[in-house]
Amino acid sequence: FAKQNGRNQYAFYFEELESDSKRLLLLESELRKAIQKKEFTIYYQPKVSIEKQEIIGVEALVRWQNEKLGFVSPGEFIPYAEDAGLIIPLSEVIIEKVCLDIIDWRNKGILNLLVSINIASLHFQQDDFIERINSILMQYNCSPRQLELEVTERTIMNDTEGIVEKLIKLKNMGFKLSIDDFGTGYSSLSYLNRFPLNYLKIDGSFIKQITSLKDKQAIVDCIILLAHRLHIKVVAEGVETKEQVKLLKEMDCDIIQGYYYSRPIPSKELLDFFELWEIHQKERNVL
Ligand code: C2E
Ligand code: MG
Ligand code: MG
Ligand code: MG
Repeated sequence: FAKQNGRNQYAFYFEELESDSKRLLLLESELRKAIQKKEFTIYYQPKVSIEKQEIIGVEALVRWQNEKLGFVSPGEFIPYAEDAGLIIPLSEVIIEKVCLDIIDWRNKGILNLLVSINIASLHFQQDDFIERINSILMQYNCSPRQLELEVTERTIMNDTEGIVEKLIKLKNMGFKLSIDDFGTGYSSLSYLNRFPLNYLKIDGSFIKQITSLKDKQAIVDCIILLAHRLHIKVVAEGVETKEQVKLLKEMDCDIIQGYYYSRPIPSKELLDFFELWEIHQKERNVL
């Protein structure tokens, strides 16, 4: 019986492995084609200031719907693109798409919406990163002042020397800078003051447990305190409940991002979202 069971298990693993490697092969060839065809859309998730309940900006999040693979999440294909040497062309397609949306909003009267773009580690590390992002922005007549770059903790803790210079240069060009997924890396908090950051985004994994685990709450509290001492504003990611918002407000967090206010939505729906937001805003003011 054991033997047979073992064999079935083996067959099962084999099939699974086979389909995994088939998917991987397909992913590689489809991703290459998708980059050429620019087969991606960008969704945007609003960020809301706790104090004034204003939308202070949106985060651009790439979406990929493929004929053969279906929906593939960025959590899967971004790391894959980094490994496969496809991240630069992919990132440049994403930046182009964001610029096109900015132009579209501009035509509809939304002028200075701050848009944050996630920058993959390998992309940021390219020597000509600054020149190339700049040339795309110039091509579409978009200003760095309207953009925020989100780099992960891991990216900037990597080789501190060159990175600090790069960040300073970007900041001087007008970009806002955020450190993303904060708390998930192995960085020392005392490093933070070396980087010219505007925002620090506390990773959603901490927020998930702030209302249930005292130690998570204590960590978030400390991060906010330290960031404020360094004149860095704090964004809480992955906020889903009213209780979380309440607690974060008590802890003096500045900005909330999460399903509680909105999921990431297509560019076109964003305009409706803004309208509804303002209507509710007026209602809030009357009350
Ligand atoms: P991230 O930059 O930390 O983005 C936050 C992720 O949390 C997004 O997942 C977002 O949809 C999700 N999220 C937002 N609010 C909530 C919430 O309340 N609850 C939960 N459970 N999740 C929430 P998404 O879009 O799947 O992206 C995953 C990661 O993939 C991003 O993490 C980012 O690292 C990467 N990524 C996404 N878009 C891009 C892109 O355009 N370029 C690059 N280089 N990376 C990207
Ligand atoms: Mg991000
Ligand atoms: Mg994040
Ligand atoms: Mg994250």
